[in-house]
Formats: sequence, structure tokens, C-alpha cells
Amino acid sequence: MKALSDDADTELVDLHCHSTASDGILSPTELVSRAKSQGVTLLALTDHDTLGGVPEAQRTGDQLGISVLPGIEFSSRWGKRPVHIVGLNVDSASTTLREAINLREQLRRERAERIAERLEKRGFAGALQGARRWAGDGVIGRPHFARWLVEEGHVEDSARAFKRYLGAGKVGDVKVDWPQLEETIDSIRAAGGTAVLAHPLKYGLTRTLLRRLVSDFLEAGGQAVELLCGRQNPVQTRELRALLDAVAEECGRPAPLFSVGSDFHQPDQPWRELGCVRLPEGVEPVWKLWQTSANNTG
Ligand code: AMP
Ligand code: MN
Ligand code: MN
Ligand code: MN
Repeated sequence: MKALSDDADTELVDLHCHSTASDGILSPTELVSRAKSQGVTLLALTDHDTLGGVPEAQRTGDQLGISVLPGIEFSSRWGKRPVHIVGLNVDSASTTLREAINLREQLRRERAERIAERLEKRGFAGALQGARRWAGDGVIGRPHFARWLVEEGHVEDSARAFKRYLGAGKVGDVKVDWPQLEETIDSIRAAGGTAVLAHPLKYGLTRTLLRRLVSDFLEAGGQAVELLCGRQNPVQTRELRALLDAVAEECGRPAPLFSVGSDFHQPDQPWRELGCVRLPEGVEPVWKLWQTSANNTG
């Protein structure tokens, strides 16, 4: 059996990124080629609420010699708060998973119509067609409205589009009943996948609430947590790791496995470039799960 420390030296793992199948700018082929040129050896494509880009990404991965895992970033809810749960190594043939995906596709379509209605009332005619054009064959989301608002010259860039029109509390912030955390974890595990709590530091939670979220996630069968999402302050990473260990101990559970991902969406954002993340020494990587199973079957 290959020692994990050897792998950690030679492997560059990125388990969170987006293609044109959701709100990324690069096609699955372009994305995998870029990952390869950044030195990534194991990549998971994790588009929002779809596996649509996975077959193309895997074909390219085979051609270029980079492992591509099927992944998905599910929109979910913890109580009333939106949270994201990444499913890694899921079986795309799973009926339960298919149903979870179909439900979200419908929720996204309905939400897009409501966002457009609200924007039109504010004088932005043509928002729905505009956003749909940016989404193309991919699942539609708020970033497609943001890009259209920029294209039309209504705002300077996407960040401002969120700040003024699409972000929390703004006119285009339409609440969605995404399936709850527990149900989302069940959908992923029913498909043989690994459930990962995405970017825990990006929900704007107090420490107390963050501890509660992690505890609920572990109690519901969540297996791993993103310790790093894009470039991150090492102090924050250390504190997050300590928090995760403390919560696991309180729940009487082993510490969760750790995942890392860039959350890459587009090339001009160096703080979330493909492969920009490396797990610190001495932590249990989530990919250990698959290495073990590969060794057992070999
Ligand atoms: P949605 O999944 O349709 O609700 O859109 C959420 C996505 O919008 C996130 O995954 C980000 O890619 C993007 N996003 C969220 N907040 C911002 C922001 N402030 N500026 C730019 N993009 C954002
Ligand atoms: Mn996104
Ligand atoms: Mn996310
Ligand atoms: Mn993401």
C-alpha cells in the first residue's frame, strides 16, 4: 500500500470547481486542460446542482492523464439558511440522486422566472432571456443574471451586480426552499458518494452557529469538511481545524475527513485558481477513502 504522505507530496488535489454546466466560464474540456497545466492530478468537477459536465470532463481527463471524479455542489438549507453540500464520487445512475437533481433544476427555473419578474419591475427589460443566454445549456443561477446586467452596462462587474441587485436582501434575492441538510446528505450517500460541507467560513456564521452547523452536519451523516476553499488565511485554517476537532469530540465522533477545493469559476481570479490549495501536514484527507478502496480492489 502506498503511504499517504508520499501521495501528499506528489499529488495536487482540487475537489471543488465549476464549468459551463453551471456558473463557470470554461467548458469541462477547457477546465480539465487548465487543471492539468496547473499541475492538478486529482480533480472533482462540482457544478451547482448538476452532473451535466462530468462525462465530458472525464473524457478529457482520460486523454490528458488526470483523474476526474464525478461531483456536485448541492444547494441546500440548514433551517432557513442556505448552505452548500458537495457530493464527491457520486454514482450518476442513482435514482435518488437523479430526483434530487431534477427537483433543484425545477427550483432554479422557477426562481429565475421570479428574479426576472422582479428585475423587470425595476426597469431591466429582457432579464430572463439575457440570463438564459448566459446559462446556455447549463443550469441557470444568479451569476447569469449578474453577467447580463454587466453586459447591458447596468453595473460595472458581477460583484456589484450581487451587491446591488442579487445578494442577500436585494430585489433579486428570491428565497428558495432548497432541500434540508439531512435530506441532501441522504441523497449523496444513497448514490454512494461522500458528503462534504462546502466552505464553512463563507456563511457569515458566528462561532456558536458554525459549531452547531458542523455538529448537525456530522450527526446527519456528513463525512468531510472543506478545510480550505480557495486561498485562505492560515490562521483561519488552523482555527477552523481546531473547531472541527472540538465539535467532533463533543459529539463523540471521530474528526471529519478534510477536503480542499479552489471553487474555481473563471480564469481571472488568482485567489481561487485551480490547484491553489494544499492540505496542511498531518490531517486526514478525504481522498484517503478512495485510495483505500482502490488498494483493496487492486
Ligand atoms: P446561485 O447558486 O444561483 O444562488 O448563485 C450563487 C453563486 O453566485 C455562487 O456560487 C457564486 O458563484 C456567485 N456569487 C455569490 N455571491 C457573489 C458575489 N458577491 N459576487 C460574485 N458572485 C457571487
Ligand atoms: Mn458558483
Ligand atoms: Mn458554494
Ligand atoms: Mn462552488
